[in-house]
Amino acid sequence: MKKKHNFYAGPSILSEYTIKNTAAAVENFAGSGLSLLEVSHRGKDFIAVNDEARVLVKELLDVPSTHEVIFVGGGASMQFCMAPYNLLNKKASYLDTGTWASKAIKEAKIFGEVEVVASSKDKNYSYIPKEYSVSPDSDYFHITTNNTIFGTELHTIPDVGVPLVSDMSSDIFSRPVDVSKFNVIYAGAQKNLAPSGVAVVIVRTDALGKVDRPIPSMLSYRIHVDNDSMYNTPPVLPIFAALQTLKWYKEQGGLPVLQQKNIEKAAILYAEIDRNKLFKGTAAVEDRSLMNVCFVMNEEYKELESAFNEYATANGMIGLKGHRSVGGFRASIYNAMPKSSVEALVETMKAFEKTV
Ligand SMILES: *Cc1c(COP(=O)(O)O)cnc(C)c1O
Repeated sequence: MKKKHNFYAGPSILSEYTIKNTAAAVENFAGSGLSLLEVSHRGKDFIAVNDEARVLVKELLDVPSTHEVIFVGGGASMQFCMAPYNLLNKKASYLDTGTWASKAIKEAKIFGEVEVVASSKDKNYSYIPKEYSVSPDSDYFHITTNNTIFGTELHTIPDVGVPLVSDMSSDIFSRPVDVSKFNVIYAGAQKNLAPSGVAVVIVRTDALGKVDRPIPSMLSYRIHVDNDSMYNTPPVLPIFAALQTLKWYKEQGGLPVLQQKNIEKAAILYAEIDRNKLFKGTAAVEDRSLMNVCFVMNEEYKELESAFNEYATANGMIGLKGHRSVGGFRASIYNAMPKSSVEALVETMKAFEKTV
């Protein structure tokens, strides 16, 4: 079979290392003669997996000792409610940079006053607003560092005078970040880490316990932290796969190395979008995402959109169709995407241009 290049936005490409080791553990976990799918999560072998994965998250992101790492079921969307449930006492501020940010805002409003400091909705979320101020009495300022659907990314983390909370679902582990600026960082696993079913959450423990409302146990960061991320049965398979991905990241030299590779891959693809007469990028140049590259056909070639899609698919390029709210194409080039696949896409774009 011809090699497929996986550009899906999520669930999305995982390293071969992750997939092979997870498949092997589904057959025979830690030499136990049993499948990973049928062992107790409280057995010593899985506790070791859970602990090592949490330690590796800390190591790779240089998480300070003020913060703890937990794995929580329910994906990033669960964190849209869990973060305000645990942290929003009176008021929180949010930056509206896209569909996911808007969903986070909607949930936060259930818990208190929400100040939306700026929005890029006026231009279909094609840029990151930069002129705004955050009320100093806000409990936190929520940002979405990478906007998966619209292909924009915050290239600098803002300093606003209140602690940050961030949805990093689609760019966690793609670059180093200063975790000390954040009360909470959360990310659904299915972009840069593991199969869906779990979110990794990094929480500053002394930011907890400050809200007046009672918090149901499963939605309480404190309960998950105090139980070493084993309050109930955790998503065993995604956490095992996450550990494989984290080991693979460490083996390659950690986040500074991954960041360099990501910068290089994105530069190759954006250069071709800018050069090729058929295409144009949709995101403001200075806010272009290194993870999700969105592009459309230039006006005069609009009618070739489905022809290019078919041509690319025939050449092994999978998952390039853009989200319906942007249209056109989106190439998701997460950490696990090799440079050779980005080069193959560029070759396909060049070859298609020649046919026109
Ligand atoms: C995919 C994604 C989500 C949604 O994640 P779920 O795990 O499906 O809830 C939220 N935020 C961002 C930035 C995403 O990319």
